[in-house]
Amino acid sequence: MEIILAKTAGFCMGVKRAMQIASQTALKNESQVYTCGPLIHNPQAVEYLKKQGVESLSDWRSINSGTLIIRAHGMPAQDIEEMKARGLNIVDATCPHVVTSQRQIKKYADLGYFIVIIGDKDHPEILSLQSFADQQRFRVISSLQQAKELDKLDQIMIIAQTTFNAEEFAEIADALSRKAKQAVVCNSICQATSERQQEVQKLAANADAVIVVGGKASANTRRLAEIAASICSRTHHIETEEELEGIDLTGVKKLAITAGASTPDFITEKVIEHIRKNF
Ligand code: SF4
Repeated sequence: MEIILAKTAGFCMGVKRAMQIASQTALKNESQVYTCGPLIHNPQAVEYLKKQGVESLSDWRSINSGTLIIRAHGMPAQDIEEMKARGLNIVDATCPHVVTSQRQIKKYADLGYFIVIIGDKDHPEILSLQSFADQQRFRVISSLQQAKELDKLDQIMIIAQTTFNAEEFAEIADALSRKAKQAVVCNSICQATSERQQEVQKLAANADAVIVVGGKASANTRRLAEIAASICSRTHHIETEEELEGIDLTGVKKLAITAGASTPDFITEKVIEHIRKNF
């Protein structure tokens, strides 16, 4: 079996940066270091950080002291203010691409634009982004249908979650632009994401099966799996090599493997090693 590993597989710049910031903070801090929820959507990477002394909190309001690392997805602006008011030491690991989106939203909200954010409404990045809009003048949508249902507006600014599907964004942004008198489209989809998505499309079209490695809660990994599955029906999304046990690779001559932006290389390497030994 030929195994083709995607060139774009593994940590993106934002995740690498957040992991480094967290490790360095744990190393030089005397107080307890926390993250608000898992630093990245990968349980194995979170476990690695735990061993280094970084604890993931489900509710940051449960602490009154220590150092809190803001994740690559960012946090709602009002939460950061509240953290500071509590006297918590804040270390910001928000990905620079997300910071750019936050600033764009703030800029256009201040100019009076209605903000439309395209993405998963419950995703932490979206919760962070929407906090920079005028709270009475924004909407989060995730589909063309929802775009069609929006009322006509004067001035709108359209922006996406950094990991949103590039083609879908273009389609939704186009439909929204036609509804407004004036529309500003900010293509905030991170290049790491679009490159990954384009590569998996090509790989899936030329492979008998595709394995996508990464956290089940990782939006960008799930998106990769969705894209691959739309082209290659034998697509499997797994978190670790253990899940390979239930997968049938009979007759597969060409196997493409990719990994989400939050998947550590060592996990993908273990998957490849397992396949080479057992399939
Ligand atoms: S996928 Fe892009 S926006 Fe998201 S953390 Fe990575 S580099 Fe930043």
